[in-house]
Amino acid sequence: MVEDETAIATGIRVALTADGHAVDVIGDGLEALNWVEAYPYDLVILDIVLPGLDGFAVCARLRATGFPAPILILTALDDVADRVTGLDRGADDYLAKPFAVAELRARVRALGRRIGPDRAATITVGDLELDPATLSVTRAGRPIRLTAREFALLELLARHPGQLFTQDRLLDALWNADFVAESNVVEVYIRSLRRKIDEGRRNGLIETVRGSGYRIRTDQDPGS
Ligand code: CA
Repeated sequence: MVEDETAIATGIRVALTADGHAVDVIGDGLEALNWVEAYPYDLVILDIVLPGLDGFAVCARLRATGFPAPILILTALDDVADRVTGLDRGADDYLAKPFAVAELRARVRALGRRIGPDRAATITVGDLELDPATLSVTRAGRPIRLTAREFALLELLARHPGQLFTQDRLLDALWNADFVAESNVVEVYIRSLRRKIDEGRRNGLIETVRGSGYRIRTDQDPGS
């Protein structure tokens, strides 16, 4: 999130963190370009009136350098001309301040669905079902309680069944840049997820590939 107003930045960070997202806040447009180069962000929420470089210019530069992820402009400038400028510089969505947090969260979910090939609002892998809007999970119809971060980890894996995720990739995707990782934090979360979703089953849904990372099995036998 590129936002120089601390109160707004904090409010959004709290709301999106509760939804399981890792959120870095950068208060300067030029600095934001460096961060985007350093970390593989899934979404940029971009203010327009910023120190360093304004949001329209940040947006244009990001697109000029091939930045692939969605950009959501969030600003008090909401004339039609400003919206048009933002979208024409490469933004995917535009939300005017003041805004309702519920709407911002819904737009973030909608933009998140553009990342993967699966555009459905809910995610299904075998008998596992995830609903990102409510952070609810069921396996064979049985509700499972996950923390927001456990949900985010499972959602990332489940959106890409069979795809291998290294520990570093998971750390980058799910933890803030300023988080000082204990070496086994991903392992700890995977273990906790397995305990909850595989309870009483022989074949675990999450496969460990020794020395490489984790992936969701695609050869699930729903009866096992
Ligand atoms: Ca501002």
